[in-house]
Amino acid sequence: MDPRIITSRPVAALLDFVFPPICLACEREERPGPLRLGLCLPCRGRLKLLRGPRCAGCGRPLRAAGLPAGYLCGDCRRRPPAYDRLRAVWSYEPPLEQVIHALKFGRLDFLGGHLAEEIWHRLGGDLRHVEAIVPVPLHWRRQMVRGYNQAERIARPLARRLCRPLVPALRRIRPTAPQARLERSRRQANLRRAFRARRAARIRDRPVLLVDDVATTGATLGHAAAALRRCGAASVLALTVARTPSR
Ligand SMILES: [Zn+2]
Ligand SMILES: [Zn+2]
Repeated sequence: MDPRIITSRPVAALLDFVFPPICLACEREERPGPLRLGLCLPCRGRLKLLRGPRCAGCGRPLRAAGLPAGYLCGDCRRRPPAYDRLRAVWSYEPPLEQVIHALKFGRLDFLGGHLAEEIWHRLGGDLRHVEAIVPVPLHWRRQMVRGYNQAERIARPLARRLCRPLVPALRRIRPTAPQARLERSRRQANLRRAFRARRAARIRDRPVLLVDDVATTGATLGHAAAALRRCGAASVLALTVARTPSR
């Protein structure tokens, strides 16, 4: 068992003494003061918040200032995504990359709770209207290998904070190749019919919050949102911890 998942204070303090926690990004031992997000204080200072003018739909940065509120980028006007909005907290670059990597592949699932806490502090006010929290699912085979779904590990503590039910309303019915390795056009084909909605009664006519770890093009969230729409969700707000910077 990873010593960092122990939460009882005296035990955690003793373990910190015996196995000093190591920052996931710079690998320095940080003392005193606890790690948050698995990062030391200087590394947390390097996290890049997403700021500046953004499309009101997909949340991509816009290179113009003084745009009216609710301005949509060309892509969103031509082909409106199935979600109403996509929000993300940070840019997906180091040191956040190391945090997400540890959550997904390092079995440090407690990081999901830390990320949920940050989301709640930064965006909680904008999430009050949602009535159900839905994590983007993994295909069961990938989940079996990983041991858990990282999106669920973020969504569950966030639902608790927001006092709203966590509703596992989506199922991934096709194993899909990892999105990051595919070109944009192949991603769309890879995702088509990848999700099916269930528990429709808990979604119908409700504003839903769809949660994932990282958004690249937003295509995965778009297809998951479309499945929620098909079973009657009133609106879908997509939310991720991070967004891949546009090149
Ligand atoms: Zn560090
Ligand atoms: Zn857009």
